[in-house]
Amino acid sequence: HIRKVNESYFGSYSSFGIHREMLSDKARMDAYGQAILKNPSLLNGAVVMDVGCGTGILSLFSAQAGASRVIAVEASAKMAAVASQVAKNNGLLLNKSETRVNGNQKGVVEVVHGMVEEIDKIVELQPHSVDVLLSEWMGYCLLYESMLGSVLYARDRYLKPGGAILPDTATIFVAGFGKGGTSLPFWENVCDFDMSCIGEELVIDAARYPIVDVIDHQDLVTSSTILQTFDLATMKHHEVDFTATASLEPKLSASENENSKTCCWCYGVVLWFDTGFTTRFCRDTPAVLSTSPYTPKTHWSQTILTFREPIAIGFGEENGTKPETIGTEGYPAVKIDLRVSIVRSTEHRSIDISMEAAGV
Ligand code: SAH
Repeated sequence: HIRKVNESYFGSYSSFGIHREMLSDKARMDAYGQAILKNPSLLNGAVVMDVGCGTGILSLFSAQAGASRVIAVEASAKMAAVASQVAKNNGLLLNKSETRVNGNQKGVVEVVHGMVEEIDKIVELQPHSVDVLLSEWMGYCLLYESMLGSVLYARDRYLKPGGAILPDTATIFVAGFGKGGTSLPFWENVCDFDMSCIGEELVIDAARYPIVDVIDHQDLVTSSTILQTFDLATMKHHEVDFTATASLEPKLSASENENSKTCCWCYGVVLWFDTGFTTRFCRDTPAVLSTSPYTPKTHWSQTILTFREPIAIGFGEENGTKPETIGTEGYPAVKIDLRVSIVRSTEHRSIDISMEAAGV
């Protein structure tokens, strides 16, 4: 379970700290900035809807990119007011009485306060009249906060047939991590004292709840593979919940190879996601936002799922070292078969993750 008190959801978005964190996330800003600002053939003259505009940044980019109308929808009253003020102060807010400000730059941003599911009566907007649907809806482990459902609602209600959705793909990846990805090494030596009993307790706790933290790619001990892909343009609402399988093969880290070890313990798996602004809609300049351990870190970090018991993996019986050195019987597994389910929790906005893993 990942849990969060639902009532505080929109409240949490009205604290500026979280917006500052998002606006300072370089990978995020670069990907959205590139997709919106460097695709003039998509944005120029377009009617854009920004689902969950927050401070309004994506709407401001859209206005800058030459959109003819930008509907910035925000459920938090405080953020909607802030987005209006920011758009106004930058000469980009639609002023119904005087449509031109700042010389010939036209204010095109309309901020609409409400849940996107409930704005019908507030804004004059025909169904299926939006050219570009924009949103930054991704949560931890992609789906935490479950805002994707609102984006799909807006797609079905407001997007023109064949209209663009940005981003248009989302992919969840998985890889196994070794001891270095746990807190064990830290507790094994604290000022030369052995506190490993604390580390062991933490690893047991970690097997019950996912942890959002950064994993160093050096600590990955298996291949990385795709767990699930979503096509935002075509996916159905129920596909937000899924069960998927994957196989992870050993990939010993450089340092372990130096010691010519051919097996090691895999303590659990790490999940992360990419979202794509592909050439389907971003024909001039596609972009990718990656939250991988192999790319610079983002505010999403990664999501760490720890096994109840570590699994010994290696390169098989023939060339695998019998892992006495790591204290198990028999030979290490040649791969780990995984089954992972992520479903929206009945408790609104949280997700339930379950995982089965077996060394085979
Ligand atoms: N687009 C901004 C903010 C992203 S955070 C940026 O990129 O910086 C997501 C925002 O969506 C939050 O401000 C939250 O209040 C809003 N939101 C979430 N669900 C919504 C819904 N159903 N309708 C309208 N706004 C929503």
